[in-house]
Amino acid sequence: MDDTLLRDDDARVAALRRLYVLDTAIEEPFEKIVTLVRTVLAVPIATVTLVDRDRQWFKAKRGIDQNETPRSMSFCTHTIQQREPLVIENALEDPRFANVPLVLGPPHVRSYAGVPLRTPEGYNVGALCAMDTRPRRFNPGDVAILGNFANIVCDELELRLIAQVDHLTGVLTRRGFVDQAVKEIERTRRYGRTTSLVMLDVDHFKRVNDTYGHAVGDQALQTIARIAEATLRPSDLFGRLGGEEFALLLPETSGGAAVIAAERLRREIADHPMMLPDGSTLSVTASFGVAELSASTSSLAAWLARADTMLYAAKSGGRNCTKLAQDN
Ligand code: GH3
Ligand code: MG
Ligand code: MG
Repeated sequence: MDDTLLRDDDARVAALRRLYVLDTAIEEPFEKIVTLVRTVLAVPIATVTLVDRDRQWFKAKRGIDQNETPRSMSFCTHTIQQREPLVIENALEDPRFANVPLVLGPPHVRSYAGVPLRTPEGYNVGALCAMDTRPRRFNPGDVAILGNFANIVCDELELRLIAQVDHLTGVLTRRGFVDQAVKEIERTRRYGRTTSLVMLDVDHFKRVNDTYGHAVGDQALQTIARIAEATLRPSDLFGRLGGEEFALLLPETSGGAAVIAAERLRREIADHPMMLPDGSTLSVTASFGVAELSASTSSLAAWLARADTMLYAAKSGGRNCTKLAQDN
């Protein structure tokens, strides 16, 4: 591995966030792996730990109550800074770890073995960890077993990404968008915030395919995804719901502000004709429906339906325009 990748924490965190795994619900493959690690290595504690900018979050865990802990003074923050596994025989005798909360308080970790979880690009996004509540010397055989399980964790992270990221455009799939949007609804409700949803559908796209061919249609979808990504904030979610229909979730944004964002994107798309292989250009437009999350919106499906109704209104209103849901 290139050592510069180990030092670039911003790029590492970006690689982790591109996995769309932080704060997601329990998933069976990772549960099985921590169960196996605990059994095979005979340890009371096993975790799949992902190291975010300021915290470590457990995708799966056994023998530990916390869902996350501060990153400073964590074991894994050291593991991800190296290529090799990190093995600690007695944390109380190691000044780096003697004051770590997981050592001082429950679950009173004394020994640790962690193997970095490395993405195909070469970033260490976290670690697969085995921990004991008594001092213990993990032997090379134990560490090799842990390494094999860590490879399976990395494969699983890649597999779930295939389901989350659209092959053609590189934006979230419907499933990926729904997973993230459900989390955003919870967050919005919990903290009493405002969030808006935008749906967009390319205008007369069938005509584009019929006139220029499917490959040009695909290129148009890729262009729209690039324009959207360049126009949006990092905290915004953008996904392809299917075909030539996309959705955009804007946290901390009122319906009125979302219309401004949608209009900006609409103009960007309309004002940037695509270059075709024969040197000619092709302009496409899209129609937009916007709905702010309201108290009476019972589910993501209901919210999508409200935005979709406005998208339909934009289509019947002449296309290449934006309509905002006025009801609550
Ligand atoms: P409207 O303005 O009312 O939205 O008209 P439209 O022609 O865009 O609507 P319609 O739903 O009839 O057509 C959508 C077209 O999108 C038909 C389908 O073949 C095409 N399509 C769906 N997915 C893809 C894709 O991945 N690539 C390409 N090139 N075309 C796709
Ligand atoms: Mg369309
Ligand atoms: Mg459509």
